[in-house]
Amino acid sequence: MRTLDTDVLILGAGGAGLFAALHAQRAAPELSITVAVKGLLGKCGCTRMVQGGYNVALAPGDSIERHFMDTIEGGKWLPDQDLAWTLVTRAIERIHELENELGCFFDRNPDGTIHQKAFAGQTFDRTVHKGDLTGIEIMNRLAEQVWARGIGRLEEHRAVELVKTSAGDAIAGALLIDMRSGEYAMVRAKAVLLATGGGPTMYRYHTPSGDKSCDGLALALRAGLALRDMEMVQFHPTGLLAGTQTRMTGTVLEEGLRGAGGYLLNGAKERFMPRYDPKAERATRDFVSRAMFSEMRAGRTTPHGGLYIAMAHLGPENVRRQFKGMVERCADCGFDLAGGLVEVVPTAHYMMGGVEFAVDCSTSLPGLFVAGEDSGGVHGANRLGGNGVANSTVYGGIAGDAIAAWIRSEGELRDPDSATIEAAREWCERPMRRKASTHGSLEPLREKLYATMWEKVGIIRDAAGLDAAIAELHAIDRELDSQALADSSRTFNLSWHDWMNLKNLVATSRVIAEAALARKDSRGAHFREDFPQTGPLEASAFTSARLAGDALEISMKPVAFTRVRPGESLLQEAA
Ligand SMILES: Cc1cc2nc3c(=O)[nH]c(=O)nc-3n(C[C@H](O)[C@H](O)[C@H](O)COP(=O)(O)OP(=O)(O)OC[C@H]3O[C@@H](n4cnc5c(N)ncnc54)[C@H](O)[C@@H]3O)c2cc1C
Repeated sequence: MRTLDTDVLILGAGGAGLFAALHAQRAAPELSITVAVKGLLGKCGCTRMVQGGYNVALAPGDSIERHFMDTIEGGKWLPDQDLAWTLVTRAIERIHELENELGCFFDRNPDGTIHQKAFAGQTFDRTVHKGDLTGIEIMNRLAEQVWARGIGRLEEHRAVELVKTSAGDAIAGALLIDMRSGEYAMVRAKAVLLATGGGPTMYRYHTPSGDKSCDGLALALRAGLALRDMEMVQFHPTGLLAGTQTRMTGTVLEEGLRGAGGYLLNGAKERFMPRYDPKAERATRDFVSRAMFSEMRAGRTTPHGGLYIAMAHLGPENVRRQFKGMVERCADCGFDLAGGLVEVVPTAHYMMGGVEFAVDCSTSLPGLFVAGEDSGGVHGANRLGGNGVANSTVYGGIAGDAIAAWIRSEGELRDPDSATIEAAREWCERPMRRKASTHGSLEPLREKLYATMWEKVGIIRDAAGLDAAIAELHAIDRELDSQALADSSRTFNLSWHDWMNLKNLVATSRVIAEAALARKDSRGAHFREDFPQTGPLEASAFTSARLAGDALEISMKPVAFTRVRPGESLLQEAA
């Protein structure tokens, strides 16, 4: 096993991880900073995939109060209000930083101001973008800066365990596997940032990048941290449905299509959204996904079992100009987005849930910080389109600043607990040690996981389905434990890594299902057919899950309305 020391260890190289690295370096240039990432720096994760854009209150007529109220109301009063307030206020400085310090080029109005487009669920057009390929612009500029500044990189290194001190009173570092060689590496660090980006890839249809398997959430759970709002999984209404033979199925067709006036049609080519919601296609993602799922359950589907999106009524030329990337993506799969119909299906997109954290990104474990999609509490029951990349970049920057300050006052290299390292290595080695006679493909287990989560822990849930899902998840986990690998080589053994991916996905799925069972109401992304009412907003509570031995403990904690109470508004005209 290799051992390395660094001052700051950042796990993940998306918007959160890279912003943290740059801010930590700017705040404390004397620190050694290392970014460890499962893929290649700048080339993996979901920030790169951001299409639609970045929410920020810039234009005259908009305000941080309006952005805040949209976030709270969209999140169905479950967001932590201080976290949401920090998001909307700091997004302004972050977008200027992206533009003026990092060199991002966003689309402009004829008068030179930044163009901001409509995104569903918001009362103002505030989404900053670069065509429909905003994430590539942001990640390229971030990666250039990280490369240029001598920040340490451990590429194709996956984190497999957070390692505390023997006393368990602080983080000591993380155990990684160098995926290229299969060698273990123990990295000691004064502070660790968890920024592996969540990602609900346990559902049959999903949008996130293939490197994401909820590793950070599983690591945090095993380290004894509490995860909140885990039942809140966002389905994006318009995942491309192009058959089972292509990995393009499930990839997202951006929200701006509905924002711009696109229609959703059922298999009979009838527009159905006005029957479900007065805002029709511009309703928030949760409403639209549920309406689509209901339409699909009723059998009014397209040839591949989904629904259609139609844009042609907005003028094919206009659609081609506004949504170039989307039109080309659809054309690659044989669909004419500008002039015809494209088959779509709701697709698992984002986890509102994650590690409980404070406004400065600290967690309950001293020295461990969290930012981006691994964190929970900013969005509550539903995330507004455009608030995801704002969240990862705003809080990534805050984490970098906070880590630098923390290291200056309390940072020291601590000895990692050797028993934890040994236990983690034993866990990783399990499939390697099985006898060859027990080996088989992991695909049937992945299919089982997809089916369980899509059918029983997906868009519409009930107690019977959730109970059955929890039992099925235990069974899948047991089957994984008895699985051996066909190839026991350590060099870039993707089956081995896939085994770990599936273990982490099952562990996280279990938390989603248990939290969904514990929440006996319906709110935002979480809909219980047996408890369809939201209940009084004044009594809002969020789920908090923690591992106690092998058991998961779920408690309900009250939401603190620190800035505005249900029924009130921060907007002048509403007051
Ligand atoms: C298709 C798509 C479109 C989207 N469009 C928008 C949009 O228009 N607007 C918006 O606001 N949001 C959008 N989002 C959401 C947005 O991308 C995310 O909220 C945000 O980018 C997450 O940033 P992050 O830094 O937390 O994670 P990511 O950017 O996903 O980065 C996670 C990093 O962690 C690494 N990693 C994972 N596991 C490990 C491990 N075990 N060890 C080491 N490294 C690890 C990954 O390789 C990756 O580098 C979109 C998401 C998708 C999937």
